Amino acid sequence: MAIPEELWREIDATREQWSQTHRPTVPAMEELLYLPFAILDHGFVRVIDYQGDDAAIVQAARVSYGKGTKSVRDDRALIRYLLRKKHTTPFEMCELKLHVKLPIFVARQWIRTRTASVNEYSARFSVLEDDFYVPEIAQICAQSTENRQGRGEQLADAVVVQESIRSLSKLAYATYTSLLERGVARELARIIVPPNVYSMWYWKIDLHNLLRFQLLRLDERAQWEIRQYAEVIDMLLRKWVPVTHQAFMDYQRYAVSLSAMARGVIKRLLKGEQVQRDYDLMSKREWDELIGEFELEDVIA
Ligand SMILES: Cc1cc2nc3c(=O)[nH]c(=O)nc-3n(C[C@H](O)[C@H](O)[C@H](O)COP(=O)(O)OP(=O)(O)OC[C@H]3O[C@@H](n4cnc5c(N)ncnc54)[C@H](O)[C@@H]3O)c2cc1C
Repeated sequence: MAIPEELWREIDATREQWSQTHRPTVPAMEELLYLPFAILDHGFVRVIDYQGDDAAIVQAARVSYGKGTKSVRDDRALIRYLLRKKHTTPFEMCELKLHVKLPIFVARQWIRTRTASVNEYSARFSVLEDDFYVPEIAQICAQSTENRQGRGEQLADAVVVQESIRSLSKLAYATYTSLLERGVARELARIIVPPNVYSMWYWKIDLHNLLRFQLLRLDERAQWEIRQYAEVIDMLLRKWVPVTHQAFMDYQRYAVSLSAMARGVIKRLLKGEQVQRDYDLMSKREWDELIGEFELEDVIA
């Protein structure tokens, strides 16, 4: 993806400015401040600002728990305890502000996270840019037969499909431009542009709600395109709040929660009992998930 010259000039000018502060900063975040990380064919994410760090979470939590000991090991243990026990408010003390360029269909999924502050590019006020998302060949797949929300195998005629997406986008933009030339209001001309056109926004969210977003959008059931953004945010989190990020991986992202019935099944297996699928106890999908998660294909008939 080519970052526009104008944006690079703005980034360079902003990165030349330095301010002194008594506030804690995170060197790894200072390094990447304002720089764009390319996503899809025209998208990016860049950090505009951040507030707080792992220590800010500990500082806030200690108000509730009293002073206590303060070694690095204790701080790490406290953060991991807070996340494990879902004591969430200390994580709200940290905030991240991103500048995101994303296709509108991704924006529609993203905006469902209501607990953030957003300022979006206005296509009533400004003219849309000629940037449309055209999926790469590997992503042009058939409707999944197993997951009604997902995609399956790559299509044999993906090249043809890709070309038709590209040519429709070009036609839509040409029509949009001709409507503007005829004097049609920008707020009306934009209605013919498809949802693979790119938009931009500033998005500010606290760390607690960002982790919720990440849990949903890093998951393989999330649409591939929004997952690409979540992967970049994951890299940012690792640099910004490494202890919290690791705790998130351990207690949320790669953790499994069990229903009371599934817990009962695992207990019976551990006691050496034979277990058969019982659809009065759990649905087929629940059995499939449990068996898949713990690789019990040879154990449960
Ligand atoms: C794979 C996937 C598929 C999806 N499919 C669909 C779909 O088909 N259709 C669809 O409409 N959505 C769909 N969604 C969106 C989903 O239903 C949620 O709206 C979205 O993930 C935001 O989650 P959230 O409510 O936890 O986040 P947020 O909106 O950030 O809210 C966080 C929490 O804050 C609280 N909160 C926020 N606002 C309110 C409020 N007004 N009142 C009370 N409490 C509030 C709630 O506790 C909420 O859980 C999908 C999401 C995913 C990840």
